[in-house]
Amino acid sequence: MTDRSLSLPIESGGRIIAHLQDCFPEEGCGLIVGRETGDGWLVTRIVPSPNMAEARDRTFEIDPGLRLRTQRGARERGEMVLGHFHSHPFGDPVPSETDTRRAADEPELIWVVVGMRWGGTQGLAAWRMDAGSGTMKRVTLDVVEGAGQS
Ligand SMILES: [Zn+2]
Repeated sequence: MTDRSLSLPIESGGRIIAHLQDCFPEEGCGLIVGRETGDGWLVTRIVPSPNMAEARDRTFEIDPGLRLRTQRGARERGEMVLGHFHSHPFGDPVPSETDTRRAADEPELIWVVVGMRWGGTQGLAAWRMDAGSGTMKRVTLDVVEGAGQS
Protein backbone atom coordinates (compact mmCIF):
# COMPACT_ATOMS: atom_id res chain seq x y z
CA MET A 1 0.00 0.00 0.00
CA THR A 2 1.38 3.38 -0.98
CA ASP A 3 1.06 6.39 1.25
CA ARG A 4 -1.69 8.77 0.26
CA SER A 5 -1.28 12.50 0.68
CA LEU A 6 -3.68 15.31 1.53
CA SER A 7 -3.59 18.28 -0.85
CA LEU A 8 -4.47 21.45 1.03
CA PRO A 9 -4.93 24.71 -0.90
CA ILE A 10 -3.20 27.67 0.78
CA GLU A 11 -6.54 29.48 1.20
CA SER A 12 -8.10 26.49 2.94
CA GLY A 13 -5.18 26.24 5.35
CA GLY A 14 -5.56 29.94 6.04
CA ARG A 15 -9.25 29.50 6.84
CA ILE A 16 -8.44 26.72 9.31
CA ILE A 17 -5.85 28.84 11.10
CA ALA A 18 -8.05 31.97 11.15
CA HIS A 19 -10.95 30.08 12.77
CA LEU A 20 -8.73 28.41 15.37
CA GLN A 21 -7.13 31.72 16.31
CA ASP A 22 -10.62 33.20 16.77
CA CYS A 23 -11.39 30.35 19.20
CA PHE A 24 -8.14 30.67 21.17
CA PRO A 25 -7.64 30.03 24.09
CA GLU A 26 -10.42 27.46 23.68
CA GLU A 27 -10.22 24.54 21.27
CA GLY A 28 -11.74 25.26 17.88
CA CYS A 29 -12.94 22.79 15.27
CA GLY A 30 -14.51 22.34 11.87
CA LEU A 31 -15.03 20.09 8.88
CA ILE A 32 -12.84 19.39 5.87
CA VAL A 33 -14.64 18.71 2.60
CA GLY A 34 -13.13 17.48 -0.63
CA ARG A 35 -12.73 14.50 -2.87
CA GLU A 36 -10.50 11.50 -3.39
CA THR A 37 -7.82 11.75 -6.04
CA GLY A 38 -5.59 9.14 -7.62
CA ASP A 39 -3.00 9.39 -4.87
CA GLY A 40 -4.90 10.80 -1.92
CA TRP A 41 -7.38 13.56 -1.17
CA LEU A 42 -7.94 17.15 -2.29
CA VAL A 43 -9.48 19.67 0.11
CA THR A 44 -12.02 21.92 -1.62
CA ARG A 45 -13.84 23.51 1.30
CA ILE A 46 -13.41 24.32 4.99
CA VAL A 47 -16.50 24.55 7.20
CA PRO A 48 -15.81 26.06 10.65
CA SER A 49 -18.03 24.66 13.41
CA PRO A 50 -18.97 25.99 16.81
CA ASN A 51 -17.33 23.87 19.51
CA MET A 52 -20.31 22.16 21.18
CA ALA A 53 -18.26 20.60 24.00
CA GLU A 54 -18.75 21.83 27.56
CA ALA A 55 -15.05 21.67 28.41
CA ARG A 56 -13.86 23.69 25.44
CA ASP A 57 -10.52 24.31 27.12
CA ARG A 58 -9.57 20.68 26.57
CA THR A 59 -11.88 19.04 24.04
CA PHE A 60 -14.08 19.67 21.04
CA GLU A 61 -17.37 18.51 19.58
CA ILE A 62 -18.45 19.40 16.06
CA ASP A 63 -22.06 20.55 15.66
CA PRO A 64 -23.84 17.32 14.53
CA GLY A 65 -26.49 19.25 12.57
CA LEU A 66 -23.81 21.18 10.70
CA ARG A 67 -22.05 17.92 9.94
CA LEU A 68 -25.22 16.38 8.47
CA ARG A 69 -25.93 19.45 6.34
CA THR A 70 -22.32 19.58 5.18
CA GLN A 71 -22.38 15.88 4.27
CA ARG A 72 -25.55 16.34 2.24
CA GLY A 73 -24.26 19.43 0.44
CA ALA A 74 -20.96 17.74 -0.34
CA ARG A 75 -22.66 14.66 -1.78
CA GLU A 76 -24.70 16.85 -4.14
CA ARG A 77 -21.44 18.20 -5.55
CA GLY A 78 -19.86 14.76 -5.80
CA GLU A 79 -17.67 15.46 -2.78
CA MET A 80 -17.48 14.16 0.76
CA VAL A 81 -16.53 15.11 4.30
CA LEU A 82 -12.90 13.98 4.32
CA GLY A 83 -12.43 14.65 7.99
CA HIS A 84 -12.15 17.51 10.46
CA PHE A 85 -9.71 19.84 12.15
CA HIS A 86 -9.22 21.03 15.71
CA SER A 87 -6.68 22.93 17.75
CA HIS A 88 -4.54 22.16 20.75
CA PRO A 89 -4.39 25.72 22.14
CA PHE A 90 -1.34 24.99 24.31
CA GLY A 91 -0.03 21.85 22.68
CA ASP A 92 1.48 20.12 19.73
CA PRO A 93 -0.13 19.17 16.40
CA VAL A 94 -0.25 15.55 17.52
CA PRO A 95 -3.39 13.55 18.37
CA SER A 96 -3.96 13.11 22.10
CA GLU A 97 -4.89 9.75 23.63
CA THR A 98 -8.53 10.88 23.61
CA ASP A 99 -8.24 11.86 19.94
CA THR A 100 -6.84 8.44 19.09
CA ARG A 101 -9.65 6.66 20.94
CA ARG A 102 -12.26 8.75 19.14
CA ALA A 103 -10.60 8.24 15.76
CA ALA A 104 -11.00 4.48 16.12
CA ASP A 105 -14.79 4.95 15.86
CA GLU A 106 -14.53 6.50 12.39
CA PRO A 107 -11.22 5.26 11.02
CA GLU A 108 -11.83 6.61 7.52
CA LEU A 109 -11.68 10.25 8.67
CA ILE A 110 -8.64 12.48 8.35
CA TRP A 111 -7.75 14.39 11.49
CA VAL A 112 -6.02 17.73 11.04
CA VAL A 113 -4.53 18.91 14.32
CA VAL A 114 -3.13 22.41 14.82
CA GLY A 115 -0.75 23.08 17.70
CA MET A 116 -0.69 26.57 19.18
CA ARG A 117 1.40 28.55 21.64
CA TRP A 118 0.48 31.99 22.97
CA GLY A 119 -2.26 32.30 20.36
CA GLY A 120 0.12 31.69 17.48
CA THR A 121 0.16 28.61 15.29
CA GLN A 122 3.14 26.37 15.71
CA GLY A 123 2.27 23.50 13.43
CA LEU A 124 -0.44 21.86 11.37
CA ALA A 125 -0.41 18.14 10.68
CA ALA A 126 -2.80 15.57 9.22
CA TRP A 127 -3.37 12.13 10.74
CA ARG A 128 -5.37 9.01 10.01
CA MET A 129 -6.10 5.87 11.98
CA ASP A 130 -4.01 2.88 10.99
CA ALA A 131 -6.34 -0.06 11.54
CA GLY A 132 -3.53 -2.58 11.78
CA SER A 133 -1.64 -0.93 14.62
CA GLY A 134 -4.50 1.03 16.21
CA THR A 135 -2.35 4.15 16.17
CA MET A 136 -2.64 7.44 14.29
CA LYS A 137 -0.28 7.67 11.34
CA ARG A 138 0.80 10.97 9.87
CA VAL A 139 -0.59 11.80 6.41
CA THR A 140 1.72 13.69 4.06
CA LEU A 141 0.45 17.22 3.55
CA ASP A 142 0.86 18.92 0.17
CA VAL A 143 0.18 22.63 0.27
CA VAL A 144 -1.11 23.57 -3.18
CA GLU A 145 -1.85 26.84 -4.95
CA GLY A 146 -5.24 28.17 -5.82
CA ALA A 147 -8.80 26.76 -5.76
CA GLY A 148 -10.09 26.06 -2.28
CA GLN A 149 -13.22 27.76 -1.05
CA SER A 150 -15.75 28.59 -3.73
ZN1 LIG B 1 -7.02 16.86 20.19
